[in-house]
Amino acid sequence: MIIGIDDTDSRKGMCTTYLCAVLVDDLKKYGEVSTPRLVRLNPCIPFKTRGNGAVSFEIKTNAEREAETKEIIRTQVSELSELREEGTNPGVVFIDSNVLNENREEKRGILKRFYENAVREVLTLEDAYGLISELHFDYFGLKNKRGLIGALAAASFLLLQRNYRKPDYYDFTYELIAYRQKERWGTPRVIDETSVWKADAATYPLTWDTVDRGEKKIVFAPHSPCPVLFGIRGDSIDAIYKTYKLIHTEPEERKMLFVTNQGTDFHLITPFMACEVMGQNAIKLETEKEKLRDYHSYILNGVVGSNPRTVEGGHVVFPLYLPEETRAGIECIAYEPTRGFRYIVRELRAGDAITAFGSLKKKTLNLEKIEVRKLNLVMEKNPRCEKCGRTMKSAGRLQGYRCKHCGTYHADKAKEVIERVLEEGLYEVPPVARRHISKPLIRMQMRMGGAGKKIHPSR
Ligand code: ATP
Repeated sequence: MIIGIDDTDSRKGMCTTYLCAVLVDDLKKYGEVSTPRLVRLNPCIPFKTRGNGAVSFEIKTNAEREAETKEIIRTQVSELSELREEGTNPGVVFIDSNVLNENREEKRGILKRFYENAVREVLTLEDAYGLISELHFDYFGLKNKRGLIGALAAASFLLLQRNYRKPDYYDFTYELIAYRQKERWGTPRVIDETSVWKADAATYPLTWDTVDRGEKKIVFAPHSPCPVLFGIRGDSIDAIYKTYKLIHTEPEERKMLFVTNQGTDFHLITPFMACEVMGQNAIKLETEKEKLRDYHSYILNGVVGSNPRTVEGGHVVFPLYLPEETRAGIECIAYEPTRGFRYIVRELRAGDAITAFGSLKKKTLNLEKIEVRKLNLVMEKNPRCEKCGRTMKSAGRLQGYRCKHCGTYHADKAKEVIERVLEEGLYEVPPVARRHISKPLIRMQMRMGGAGKKIHPSR
């Protein structure tokens, strides 16, 4: 049986991964329990508490024990969920492990679509109930049961990964999460920072986003009152445990390793051009003209429309002209919390060909990465007068340039080749500002040597 769970926590406490860890540990006496999955769903969803995470795991047991297992899960979810908080709406699905034995391809397609839509689109509870009734899944929920969306997506991810022989059909990474002893919840975390820096140095880049060197900050531990002590993310289980052993902290209550879609960029949609960098993660929309929609995340090729400007609050903005729209373009923004990434964005100039990666909210693309594909090395200026050397003035729209003093005329702007500080290649927000689901550039480099691109990882 596969179990998917979501929406049990609030900003004031709990964490769905903790609930999952407790269940996985408790249920071991009832059967063989798999490594749990932690999926990050659409990062733009307004109902999310933090990282829009949902969990799933599989238990192999007999029919009698299965009923008992379901009862334990219902009880634990009811008792541990933050039900007093308005936004907490738990959902649990129970799926027969053999669900794909009949009509395999058809069912696979349905589950695949649901999981992918949960990461990239905005779903409704009706979508979840539709799937539940179509495939006859057992479920349980509390309050408005919105968590069923995430629960179904997490269970689908496990089923698809587990059944589809190629283990890397969906890119995945690992996170080892350590949890605090209950009496310490809500108090400051005791972590020996020096040990964390050393551990990072020993295992990066097989582990990543443990620290942020640029910001001189430890980023693997939250500051919220939740049960999480820290999480070590990476591509190698060995490297993760090596890091774990090197880190000194307060005693933990328990720890759990998750297989996850974190660090994969699975949320990004590429509507205009298949982007070689993203490889299999990129999907192509039906028509190039498909409108960009809020609450969706995109990879967009375009040209910087005008030089970036810094606005109130320290955010940096510029318009990106998409291939089909040479004038209007969409606004791109590097928010203040993206820190050093803004310095890169400020170095862009009108005419640079770039690829922008980010989420669209209020018609503005919130940047997570950029690829500078071709720098504009030519600066156009009003020409200088050949006689007196003064800068010529425009003689009117499309009427060339004239020197006020000598009366000389020049039809076009002068072109000057300029030096640029910025190099071509891929840039990203630093670890302090990275979304769980965003792929760190260092992973791109490790997996495909950057696909021939120059990569500027931020660590
Ligand atoms: P945490 O990361 O701490 O576990 P969270 O950020 O995951 O918290 P949740 O409490 O799980 O936040 O709330 C997210 C809610 O949004 C859940 O009810 C989930 O079912 C729902 N949801 C997730 N993805 C989508 C989607 N694509 N469309 C609509 N609803 C979604």
